[in-house]
Amino acid sequence: MSSILRIALQKSGRLSEDSYQLFKECGIRFDYGTGKLKSVSSNFPAEFLFLRDDDIPGYVEDGVADLGIVGENVAVESARTIDTVHRLGFSKCRLSLAIPRGNEWNGIQDLSGKNIATSYPLILGNYLREQNISADIHVISGSVEIAPGIGLAEAICDIVSSGSTLLSNGLKEVEVIFRSEAILIARSTLETEKQSLLDKLLFRIKAVQAAKN
Ligand code: ATP
Ligand code: ZN
Repeated sequence: MSSILRIALQKSGRLSEDSYQLFKECGIRFDYGTGKLKSVSSNFPAEFLFLRDDDIPGYVEDGVADLGIVGENVAVESARTIDTVHRLGFSKCRLSLAIPRGNEWNGIQDLSGKNIATSYPLILGNYLREQNISADIHVISGSVEIAPGIGLAEAICDIVSSGSTLLSNGLKEVEVIFRSEAILIARSTLETEKQSLLDKLLFRIKAVQAAKN
């Protein structure tokens, strides 16, 4: 049996449209948005799986999918053993530290001994270690921006794209700790046939990107 690439994409969210568009521009056709969990391409040996973005690194590591598109923030935070094959240039955002707007900021040392709320304990922990700061990390899975307002933390570390969510929660961005964009990830050891399909796909992706620059 000839092999086929299984590619995991975000079902619906900030990565989805650009991910679907990328394959369209590569001339790879498949149905999406039908509510189905998977779809086989009609003109390329690929099958697409539609999942929550957070689940994609794990599925790629476990071999349920061969490839996936996720934000680099999610890939790094997952701590999964996966390869970053290519940077895709969309869904750009940054992970930043923010504090209440009225508070003074003299630098990262201000966070020493403080509580910081985040959904990114691994990335934040690495950053604090590099900066030699010891602080308490409080993990919350969503609505991190409200933590200072309800007395749960003195600072937050969260995804920022425009800054308007911070502003409406009375916070100000004080330090960018990680810059992210969508990346193509792969299982670390692909069979020869799948690797050659990936090479074909990458060739098309690079051509699409080159045409835009
Ligand atoms: P899912 O339902 O699939 O779990 P989600 O709500 O976790 O989706 P999205 O908000 O769709 O995720 O964001 C997906 C990715 O898009 C983020 O991990 C990040 O890499 C990127 N991104 C770009 N801009 C933003 C933003 N303003 N807020 C959040 N994520 C952003
Ligand atoms: Zn998610």
